[in-house]
Amino acid sequence: MAKKERMRIERINNGIVIDHIDAGKGIDILKLFPTEFLKTKIDYASYIDSPRMGMKDIIKIENLDVNAEWLMRIALLAPDLTISIIRNAKVQKKVKPTIPEIVEGILKCRNPKCVTIRETYLVSRFRVGRTETGRLKQQCTFCEHIFYD
Ligand SMILES: [Zn+2]
Repeated sequence: MAKKERMRIERINNGIVIDHIDAGKGIDILKLFPTEFLKTKIDYASYIDSPRMGMKDIIKIENLDVNAEWLMRIALLAPDLTISIIRNAKVQKKVKPTIPEIVEGILKCRNPKCVTIRETYLVSRFRVGRTETGRLKQQCTFCEHIFYD
């Protein structure tokens, strides 16, 4: 696996590597960041063979640093990922983001009848958890609708 990855993804000196993203979800993660964050070298490989996950996506973003809030935003899209912080071409730190039980103001409810769609001053609030099979579950506390990743 490592060999294959090396062929498709270049090393970076400083930045972050987002690994173990569910296959096909990488593009959604890139869309999370404001475009000015992304005016840098980005390597994105999707549907790479992974012994653990079957298939996965991997993203390397040069000269980007992420704080705890960004880690959580990313983790809400792909809860099993790992993020490596790269400094001077070495992995300085590996982070496995944790998802809080309640997430406020980040997710948008996808239920068109939800009060938060019309009353835009309301701050969204979701209960986040996992299903028995490990899928991410997000429940809007306004309309009680449950969404799965
Ligand atoms: Zn809702």
